[in-house]
Amino acid sequence: MTAHQPDPPMFEPDAWGLSDQERNLAALARDIGQSKIAERAAGYDRDAAFPVENYRDMFDAGLMGICIPEAYGGHGVDLRGYAVVAAEIGRYCGSTALTWNMHVCSCLWSGALTDDLEMDDADRRRHEANRAVHYRRILDEGAIYAQPFSEGGAAAAGMVAFGTTALRVDGGWRVNGKKIFASLAGNADFYGVLCTELQSADDRASRGNTLYLAIPADTDGVTVEGDWDPLGMRGTVSRNLLFDDVFVANGAELMPPGFYFKAASQWPHMFMTLTPAYMGQAQAAYDFTVKYLRGEMEGVPPVKRRMYPTKQIAVAQMRVMLEQTKSVWFQAISEARANPSKDQVMRAYAAQYTVMENANELAQLAVRTCGGQSMLKNLALERIYRDSRCGSLMLPWTAELCLDKLGRDCLYEPGETDED
Ligand SMILES: Cc1cc2nc3c(=O)[nH]c(=O)nc-3n(C[C@H](O)[C@H](O)[C@H](O)COP(=O)(O)OP(=O)(O)OC[C@H]3O[C@@H](n4cnc5c(N)ncnc54)[C@H](O)[C@@H]3O)c2cc1C
Repeated sequence: MTAHQPDPPMFEPDAWGLSDQERNLAALARDIGQSKIAERAAGYDRDAAFPVENYRDMFDAGLMGICIPEAYGGHGVDLRGYAVVAAEIGRYCGSTALTWNMHVCSCLWSGALTDDLEMDDADRRRHEANRAVHYRRILDEGAIYAQPFSEGGAAAAGMVAFGTTALRVDGGWRVNGKKIFASLAGNADFYGVLCTELQSADDRASRGNTLYLAIPADTDGVTVEGDWDPLGMRGTVSRNLLFDDVFVANGAELMPPGFYFKAASQWPHMFMTLTPAYMGQAQAAYDFTVKYLRGEMEGVPPVKRRMYPTKQIAVAQMRVMLEQTKSVWFQAISEARANPSKDQVMRAYAAQYTVMENANELAQLAVRTCGGQSMLKNLALERIYRDSRCGSLMLPWTAELCLDKLGRDCLYEPGETDED
């Protein structure tokens, strides 16, 4: 292992007002990221292979239970704390941070987020018993959870009910359907599947009946299929998943029936959980440029380029964009809560759009500024350029859909139409 000068924090703890827990966990993630994850990233990218070794290290460091409530043995970190820590991982390997997000959501959404929603006592008791089982698996057995939502239609954008169905049967459900882009496919122990619960075969599918079920990967009828050879985020191994008459027993619910739909409208920041990986990529593009222009990049002759005024202006522009991105993002993730104001939701859309678009913009500015040698495959920048391109494609808050929602919210108040 190479000895490194420790990288400075992305969010200087005192300046950004981080809690001691946020400061310590971010330092831990940065240390593992810099000393272990960074040097493995090129191999996972080249082979489009899942970052198994990184997951082992994150488990050993206690990071897999970051959002498991303290009462169940986890760190009990909220969305902001998780996001700041995950951004430090994303700085060194986008695929590791993005897949870790899928896992962490199974804990954050069933944990702090669900605790914020009103629930009757019976539902609460059942939910607490169910989630205790999921959390023990993660903390004691090292179980990894995936989060397959996407189906290739309008469901992942929240427009229609999921086509994957869970038919109520004795003792549980029978699940049928297909998910595409299932990160961690073939590598997760459980698939946290979003599907539509049906009470009978002729029941009408409704978004309100969305069910979030943890399906063991080795259950009969679960198959991983298709190739995975994408432009970027190659280590996510986001292959297709088929569910053919898969029996899932009662207790597999990650949220009580109907609560995913409630959460999506009452706790909208839940969809910002995809941004930390890309916030880290934005920082990585900037870090690369500074190191390169100072002639300090490993694997490259130590030629300094920092004395040219054009380079100084270019890196200044990158710094401005990075500061803008970090600021709106930090503010928005700090505002994550149940029933945010309209203004806070609009800022969340703006922050999501900004991170997802600016990460790739910063990467392309980095390539232009550093020059031809910087985009050779032996350096991290060309991977950052490809990985960061994926951010604005992630449903339900793609860059386009953020603009779409934001534009409407800017011009219409709730209930307003153009009919009168
Ligand atoms: C690296 C990577 C990892 C991923 N991992 C996961 C994962 O683990 N789990 C998971 O569930 N998904 C995952 N996804 C999938 C992702 O969230 C999207 O579902 C996927 O990129 C959508 O691709 P599509 O071509 O089917 O999009 P389409 O649904 O065809 O949409 C294409 C574009 O049209 C726009 N659009 C879509 N719907 C509307 C609408 N109603 N109105 C206006 N515009 C619209 C959007 O901007 C969208 O980008 C991953 C994607 C990537 C790139």
